[in-house]
Amino acid sequence: MARLNDRLGHVLGEKAGKALAKALDLHTVDDLLRHYPRRYAERGELTSIARLDEDEHVTVLARIAKVDLRKMQQRKGTILTLTITDGRSELTCTYFNQPFLAKDLVRDRRGLFAGKVTRYRRTLQLTNPQYLLLPDENHPHAASSEAGGLGLNVVADERDFMRPLLPVYPSAAGLPSWTLAQCVRVVLDVLEEPEDPLPAELRAEHSLLPLVRALRTIHLPESTADIAAARDRLRHDEALALQLVLAQRRHADAQRNAPACPPRTGGLAEAFEQRLPFALTAGQQQVGGELAADLSHSRPMSRLLQGEVGSGKTVVALRAMLAVVDAGRQAALLAPTEVLAAQHARSLRELLGPLGRAGELDSAEQATRVTLLSGSMSTAAKRQALLEVVTGDAGIVVGTHALIQDTVQFFDLGLVVVDEQHRFGVEQRDALRERGRSGATPHLLVMTATPIPRTVAMTVFGDLSVSTLRELPRGRSPITSSVVPVQEKPAWLDRVWERVREEVADGRQVYIVCSRIGEGDEPGGTESETTSVLELAAELGQGPLSGVRVAPLHGRLPGEEKDAVMRSFAAGDIDVLVATTVIEVGVDVPNATAMVVMDAERFGVSQLHQLRGRVGRGGHAGLCLLVTTATQGSRARERIEAVAATVDGFELAQLDLEQRREGDVLGVAQSGHRSSLRLLSLLRDGAVIAAARAQAESIVDDDPQLAGHPGLAQMVRSALDGERVEYLAKA
Ligand code: ADP
Ligand code: MG
Repeated sequence: MARLNDRLGHVLGEKAGKALAKALDLHTVDDLLRHYPRRYAERGELTSIARLDEDEHVTVLARIAKVDLRKMQQRKGTILTLTITDGRSELTCTYFNQPFLAKDLVRDRRGLFAGKVTRYRRTLQLTNPQYLLLPDENHPHAASSEAGGLGLNVVADERDFMRPLLPVYPSAAGLPSWTLAQCVRVVLDVLEEPEDPLPAELRAEHSLLPLVRALRTIHLPESTADIAAARDRLRHDEALALQLVLAQRRHADAQRNAPACPPRTGGLAEAFEQRLPFALTAGQQQVGGELAADLSHSRPMSRLLQGEVGSGKTVVALRAMLAVVDAGRQAALLAPTEVLAAQHARSLRELLGPLGRAGELDSAEQATRVTLLSGSMSTAAKRQALLEVVTGDAGIVVGTHALIQDTVQFFDLGLVVVDEQHRFGVEQRDALRERGRSGATPHLLVMTATPIPRTVAMTVFGDLSVSTLRELPRGRSPITSSVVPVQEKPAWLDRVWERVREEVADGRQVYIVCSRIGEGDEPGGTESETTSVLELAAELGQGPLSGVRVAPLHGRLPGEEKDAVMRSFAAGDIDVLVATTVIEVGVDVPNATAMVVMDAERFGVSQLHQLRGRVGRGGHAGLCLLVTTATQGSRARERIEAVAATVDGFELAQLDLEQRREGDVLGVAQSGHRSSLRLLSLLRDGAVIAAARAQAESIVDDDPQLAGHPGLAQMVRSALDGERVEYLAKA
């Protein structure tokens, strides 16, 4: 008998075990049983050959239409060529020096053929594919190219192929789908029934199949309805395991101690409110209330604040920071880049006025100090800043992530605000936990301008509470977006530069964004086809935009120079900024009215939306021109057109999600690890995820360590061992 944790080598023989580990990273019985069929072939249905892609490992069910055995002309040996067909399209299979195969491979026989699709002289073909021929009237037995190839103690069992639905597995070199099917069958035959991790009441309540039934059914279904029920159960488990991890994380966070910062009468926060030149929107007030409530507790806040570009998140965050300063602690604001950190420091000082100038002549009575700490500062300036941070003179410290990672000593850090969550991972969140005074955990507020689809909020950000700013403070000016398809309409590019000139002539400013800098060899390859910052800035200055003040800006400029360029753009001394995405987030120049994105196909949906958010911030209408070489009908073009068609961030966030693969959403793709989510879709399974979240919450409330639920504890461990947990929390 075998159990889920048993190594495959023990059950199937070492040879098969090694092959499965090497080809598909499958090690245990559980791994194999969770390698679900990609789809199911109905008996008699052939695989559509026209839809095969080059370089893919495929298993096709086809009929042999032609067989040709010849001697090779140039060399010694034979070549056996089959033409196989799905009834419409044909595929060539060639076998070198195996003339004896002609005995099995005869015309009109149906079978499975597995191999890598290659192209030879314009036709798709499989070279030396493995095969499994199905029994038919004239051939009572199945025949396989690899009888005993894996050393499995199984032979092709024709009953497997007489099933109404044949599972088709994601396969790999040397492991055709039917070999996997055989391995699965052997394992299922000897599987000792594991205890179901789900309590029976929970199963009953949600009408879920028992685990073993679900596993058997997903591999050996009798009907399509069977498959749906099996998937429901397994999908539910994935969602529940994930939500249990998050619920446990929330629970552990709640056990930590944070400095309670209740509102103080007569403090800085109040004084700030009185000097605000505008009234807070209802949304800002509501979110402000949520933050104030969290901050008054001695349990650390973990909150995500989402709101479109320009929705007024900074003011909301500043009020929270001031509440913390009022309680005698410090707040840190982390920005993704030094440009943004510098800009944040500037705009906080501006908003605070005399309230932010402690120690200076014109400071207000309760004033604090906003200190910028940046890698590019001079040693002396840095030393001064570090001193302000450690003495607590700096109530608000602004910098990049380096602030919480290394040697910066805070006097008493009470709150960390992270602007733009994208680049903020779980390690940083953990580093942060160490930065409070004597074991206290600072409160955390993460801000994002990318609206987050509900399912992503419940999973990727599932250990954060969410606040949302939906309205924009004042009627923002409308932004018109257009696609400029330079392949089809090369002349439109001239019109783009004319429009830029017109904006400048009206006294406005323009951003032009490129996907690369252009200092020779850059990582990433095929660069020559795209426009670079340096080339374009030079070209425009001499040609279409001569006489206009054009300046380049990119991440490789020294910090001070970047800062100087941004400052002169903000001051209106530069008309056109040709930049990389360093300007993607947070940059706020109300007089900038047009945004031109070159090679727009190089950017994702939310990036384009972010970039567009840089314009239309003042009283003037905004214009966004998306220049692209993507051809009509391509996915990239559709993406760009979708961005041009709407400015609704939530709609675009959903679209962004649809454009990505699940693995990318969870950040698993880069790591090369298999996701523990195989059936669960962040796109389609919102209801399952929400239900699992509620279940997990109530289970963990009663039993935080899952001590009374060994099955669930095991499920959590096996689905999300160590590293995988981190991927989920990362954006
Ligand atoms: P975000 O950080 O969400 O992109 P900001 O906080 O930078 O947005 O706000 C955008 C602009 O709107 C800023 O110039 C800010 O001063 C202004 N602003 C914020 N709240 C209000 C409000 N309630 N009424 C008017 N203007 C506001
Ligand atoms: Mg902002």
